[in-house]
Amino acid sequence: MRSNNLNEAERVLTICNACRYCEGFCSVFPAMELRRAFTAGDLNYLANLCHNCRGCYYACQYAPPHEFQVNVPQTLARLRLETYRECCRPRLFRSLLNGSAVPVGLVTALATALVLFAARFGGGPGALFETHLGAGAFYRLIPYWAMVLPFTAAAALAILVLGRGLTVFWSATGGNPAEFRDLRAHLHAAWDVLRLRYLEGGGDGCNYPDERFSMSRRYFHHAVFHGFLLCLASTSLAFVYDHLLGRAAPYPVLSWPVALGTLGGLALLIGTGGMIYLKTKMDRAPAAEESFGMDLAFVLLLFAVSLTGLLLLLLRSTPAMGTLLVLHLGCVAGFFLTLPYGKFLHSVYRYAALARNAGEQFRQRAGSAENDPSA
Ligand code: SF4
Ligand code: SF4
Repeated sequence: MRSNNLNEAERVLTICNACRYCEGFCSVFPAMELRRAFTAGDLNYLANLCHNCRGCYYACQYAPPHEFQVNVPQTLARLRLETYRECCRPRLFRSLLNGSAVPVGLVTALATALVLFAARFGGGPGALFETHLGAGAFYRLIPYWAMVLPFTAAAALAILVLGRGLTVFWSATGGNPAEFRDLRAHLHAAWDVLRLRYLEGGGDGCNYPDERFSMSRRYFHHAVFHGFLLCLASTSLAFVYDHLLGRAAPYPVLSWPVALGTLGGLALLIGTGGMIYLKTKMDRAPAAEESFGMDLAFVLLLFAVSLTGLLLLLLRSTPAMGTLLVLHLGCVAGFFLTLPYGKFLHSVYRYAALARNAGEQFRQRAGSAENDPSA
């Protein structure tokens, strides 16, 4: 039996399929128009293809208070949360995807407590509030193995669970393995993701946080995305310095790990700060209230990761270093542990939906060219 969210999505998209006023707005409408009826897989695929620009809500003559009550962004956002739960692996953890901020908050608090425990017993009494200087200063507080092993394991686990979720999503939305191997579709989708093409809308941006067109959402997403990549590059370089070159952290201000980490941290701070601000200002009518907490928790946690990282860099030669290191590592651990069970899933499933959409469009165009007698 279909869920209420699936039934509502089918009702709304059936109206849209007859109306088609919004067909140039995004990739959802052209993909919808290839179908006359919608399977559950189709609906989940279309829900994750939506990037919540809200253009179709403000343009719709059937939106509330019209009796048809067509609210595409809200309907698809509700269905996305259901998709996250359906594709969650291990299934045991699906209740974490309840849309609230509580799981992220609890896991991060627990992770911070564990890091504090490691610092208290690894560094010895009083070490947390002492000044530690020079190479290996961080390891005098938290032993090397306690810092490297759990964080590597948490990151590897997050990648494995997200990868498994991606394959589950692909088959649950009706995609087959041959389509998954379409390299051209993946390259097309990856290019769209890298330049955040869809957040540009028709050139004026999204209708976010309110009815007016604005590029702010796109700019803040760019800052978060590229800030995250810079931080990843910084951490990877620090790994090479530490493990291959034998140079223990912390590194000088004029070194590649610190320069990349500072730039990335600043970009993340600005991007997440801007996204939090937009969220507080957004029009709630096209939003799914039930996932608001989960979405906000993810951005807040990224904000905390970047803020504590930058403060740690700034105050690492003072007695505040220990407290900031514990807070930063606790936030980083919370981030990796909750990555597959929160808002980040949107990035993974949307990428899969974009790749599937690209393949579908390529095949559609190839089919049209074959059937065109003038070609
Ligand atoms: S959102 Fe409204 S205007 Fe747009 S296609 Fe659907 S029914 Fe038509
Ligand atoms: S909210 Fe934007 S992306 Fe989503 S269906 Fe409407 S126009 Fe497309």
